[in-house]
Amino acid sequence: MAAGRGQLVFAAVCVLGLVLILLAERFWTRDVTIGALSVFPVGLAGWLLGRRALIAIILIGVALRILALGFGVVGGLTALSQAAALPLVGVACHMAASSRSSSAAELDRERQLRELAFLLEAAQKLASSLDPAVVLRRAVEVTAQGVSRPGDGRPAAAAYHRLLGDVVRVEAADDEPSRETVGFEYPLARNQAVLGALRSGRASIVRPDHMTGVLEQHVRALGLQVLAFAPVRSGNDLHGFLVATARDAPSVDRRELSLLDMLARMTGLALINAEHMQTQREHADRMENLEKVKSHFLNLVSHELRSPLTVALGYVSMLEEEALGPLTPQSRSVLPIVIAKLNEIEMLVEQMLETSRLEETLVLNCERVDLRELCREVVGTMRPLLDGRHSIELVEPEEQVVVFADRSRVGTILANLLGNAIKYSPEGGLVRCEISKQGGGGRVSVSDEGLGISEADMPRLFTRFGRILTPENQGILGTGLGLYLSREVARQHGGDITVKSRVGLGSTFTLSLPAG
Ligand code: ADP
Repeated sequence: MAAGRGQLVFAAVCVLGLVLILLAERFWTRDVTIGALSVFPVGLAGWLLGRRALIAIILIGVALRILALGFGVVGGLTALSQAAALPLVGVACHMAASSRSSSAAELDRERQLRELAFLLEAAQKLASSLDPAVVLRRAVEVTAQGVSRPGDGRPAAAAYHRLLGDVVRVEAADDEPSRETVGFEYPLARNQAVLGALRSGRASIVRPDHMTGVLEQHVRALGLQVLAFAPVRSGNDLHGFLVATARDAPSVDRRELSLLDMLARMTGLALINAEHMQTQREHADRMENLEKVKSHFLNLVSHELRSPLTVALGYVSMLEEEALGPLTPQSRSVLPIVIAKLNEIEMLVEQMLETSRLEETLVLNCERVDLRELCREVVGTMRPLLDGRHSIELVEPEEQVVVFADRSRVGTILANLLGNAIKYSPEGGLVRCEISKQGGGGRVSVSDEGLGISEADMPRLFTRFGRILTPENQGILGTGLGLYLSREVARQHGGDITVKSRVGLGSTFTLSLPAG
């Protein structure tokens, strides 16, 4: 649109030129050389305008020459020769302009291709490391390459200036003299020129004579003439500046500045990746250490608690049997609470010990076990503990379901699943324990009509200390070790535990074990 309007203006100027020449011939001088000047507007049209506009201008030029003949200001031969010269000059200028612009376009295309290839190579180099220090080193290497002009004999160097609060520090440099200045620091606030580059958000030239203080001394000492600063962003924050420098050439052109901008953008992206990776790695190391500390703590506490607990349980049972003398009715009434609490602690200690055994070496004493028998036993021990709100239904096949398992440990898993089914159905309801054959092995499914577990909480269900706290289960005590231990032990048997659940409707945990 703008180009079209420009053409129109040029065309109008050419026509005006031709008309003025005719008017000058008619009213001012009859010198034939004035009429010959018509070749200039037509030549200009040939150089600047498209083919159609040129033809129109030539036709207008010829018409005006005929008009000049008609006015009698030029002779027939002169008018003819002037009219013949117009298309010749117009076409010649048009051809010259086309060949010039096509060779300029060719050169431009070549440069663009070279830049594209260079940027691809630079992107590959920057993306191939996840170490921030290496990314910065490569960024200064490619920047120096990108801004150097070997043909013009202008080598460029590059450095990375990192922003650390109010101070900027040279973090990496690619050429020898500058490399020695790595670690050099200057205040950002006192260098308005650098601040200007930062505010513009794009690569810009900062001249040494616009610098102040230590930065100016530093730049002069290195003998730098050209400094182009491109801000590097890591997300929304300014990370630093990619700085291209040269000692002896006058300037960095617009294309080099936009190349520098692109390199700065790519460096920012590569830095985000590298720094993200570094944080992940540090996080993983911290987690690993934390896990080790947790295991150590678990081991220590469980062993340390065990002996005083055994002593306390011993005394409590002596008290219960009145071996230490008769109890008052009041003492007798609190004794069951003390025993229940000590039993809770004993279970916790047992689970902690089992967890540390699991993390060192757990020895399974496997034998052929009929799951029906084992379930009957475990359900039998649970029934007396029910408070009337729950009922347990045992569903078993007629034939044996034999698995190869550590009887006592599988007993603990079943007790744990049944205990949870009761514990997490605070409103009461039916708990079903269904035994079935599975392939050559066996399967026990424990279902309840309780609180259920949301999809979002599932990933934490079987993790160590993975308690899932919701407003509904707030008052229910637990350690978060039961399911973790149960699944780990089931897996050590070559089996597994899976779960299906719907919030508010209940859950089904299924233990599967291999054949006996
Ligand atoms: P806890 O000692 O807390 O019961 P578990 O490892 O046995 O530890 O269970 C981990 C979490 O899984 C519990 O905190 C609870 O939120 C959830 N959970 C376990 N079993 C059930 C169940 N049958 N119904 C609903 N939630 C359950």
